[in-house]
Amino acid sequence: MKIFCRLRNYIMSHWPFMQFLFPACSRILFVPVAPRPAILLFGKREPVMCAVCGRELKHKYKPREDWRIEGYLCSDCQIEKTKEFASRPQQQQQQEPDRCAMCKAELGDVAVKPRWQWEMEPGTLLCQPCFGRKEAEYNKRLNFCATCGAKIGFIRYNPKPAWKIQGQMCRKCWDERNQRK
Ligand SMILES: [Zn+2]
Ligand SMILES: [Zn+2]
Ligand SMILES: [Zn+2]
Repeated sequence: MKIFCRLRNYIMSHWPFMQFLFPACSRILFVPVAPRPAILLFGKREPVMCAVCGRELKHKYKPREDWRIEGYLCSDCQIEKTKEFASRPQQQQQQEPDRCAMCKAELGDVAVKPRWQWEMEPGTLLCQPCFGRKEAEYNKRLNFCATCGAKIGFIRYNPKPAWKIQGQMCRKCWDERNQRK
C-alpha cells in the first residue's frame, strides 16, 4: 500500500508530464481510491426485508408474538398489523363459545374429546363431569345387559337394530326378545 501511495504521489506530482507521455494514464489514475476490501466485506450488512411487503428496512419493527410473523416489519406494515389484530378479539367475542354436547354448559379450557367408542359426532366436545358420566354409562353398557341389567361376561349378544336397544344383552334377554317378534 505504501509503495502504491508513493508511486501515486510521484505520478500526481509529475502529472502534466505523465499525461503527455501516456495519454491512457489519465483515465486509469482518476479512478478514485477504492475502499479497502475489508471495509466492503464487514462494513455492509445483509439488508433486512419486511416480512409482509418485502421492502428493505431502514427501521426494523419487531412483530408481536401472537401475530405469528417471522422476521421484522416496516413501519407501515407494523401499523397495519396492529390495527388488524386490535379488531380481532371483538370478532372472537361475537363467536359462539364451545359448549358441552351433553349439558350445553360453556366450555373453558377443560373441554374433553369423547372416546371414539362412544360414536359421537366428530368435533364433539364435553365438559369434564359429562365425560365422566358418559364413561360410566359406556362401561355399564359394555358390562351389563341393556334389558335386565345383569352383569354380562365374555359372551354377549347384540340386539337386532329393529329392537332399538342400545348396548348388549345377556343370552336370556336376547332369546326372550327374539321370541316376542
Ligand atoms: Zn412492510
Ligand atoms: Zn357437560
Ligand atoms: Zn338381560
